[in-house]
Amino acid sequence: MISINNVHKSYVTGHNSLHVLKGIDLDIEQGEFVSIMGSSGSGKSTLLNILGILDNYDEGSYYLNGSLVKDMSEKKAAQLRNELVGFVFQSFNLISFKNAMENVALPLYYQGVPRKKRNKIAMEYLEKVGLLEWATHLPSEMSGGQKQRVAIARSLISQPKIILADEPTGALDTSTSYEVMEILKEINKDGITIILVTHEHDIAAMTQKIVHLKDGGIDQIIMNGDLKQFKSQYAKQLETA
Ligand code: ADP
Ligand code: MG
Repeated sequence: MISINNVHKSYVTGHNSLHVLKGIDLDIEQGEFVSIMGSSGSGKSTLLNILGILDNYDEGSYYLNGSLVKDMSEKKAAQLRNELVGFVFQSFNLISFKNAMENVALPLYYQGVPRKKRNKIAMEYLEKVGLLEWATHLPSEMSGGQKQRVAIARSLISQPKIILADEPTGALDTSTSYEVMEILKEINKDGITIILVTHEHDIAAMTQKIVHLKDGGIDQIIMNGDLKQFKSQYAKQLETA
């Protein structure tokens, strides 16, 4: 599904260049549930943006579902994104003057699906995330957890193969975070690949594979089976978290 080889990325601002990703190699299969960890500024969002074809990289190769993603026209990139990828963000990115149903239906609006039909489909996805009764409510009337569930429903409506989530629980309290993770787990059971960025160890521990970024590279990849090692390694941080 995803194959990244020796990917480098620098940000150039004026005369300064910041080498953020220094040769990333990463393979992710269809149906995996992966978290990307690392300290603030380690390049997690940069990597996720490259995976979602929201940003370019400088060197190496990235294959998404068999297509080489490199120097792609915006049109081709948008096409591939729409076909394959759903996005979830820390700040939900809902439209404040549209209700939950309309927010979920928005991707179908851009695909030219007529209002009645797209709203009907949106209701199905709201039901999936347990928010059927909230369909006519505005984001301002909903809790953080509910807003994130709306955003997840919106990310699913175009039937993506991959969900990319950048700190999806970053703005939520612990119990709400776990609710959101339960929904992501359910979605993953349907075979959708999920890649999420988090700096919370307990959230990462709910995924199958933890990719740890450090100093521009992948420091280590921990499989779910080895979580004991992961937990003891981070016991100190968990205690102080
Ligand atoms: P993380 O998500 O792990 O916190 P980011 O990928 O957002 O890290 O950023 C990695 C580094 O790149 C940081 O030092 C950040 O300041 C820098 N950076 C991110 N985006 C840009 C940009 N558009 N222009 C310049 N520097 C950037
Ligand atoms: Mg980030």
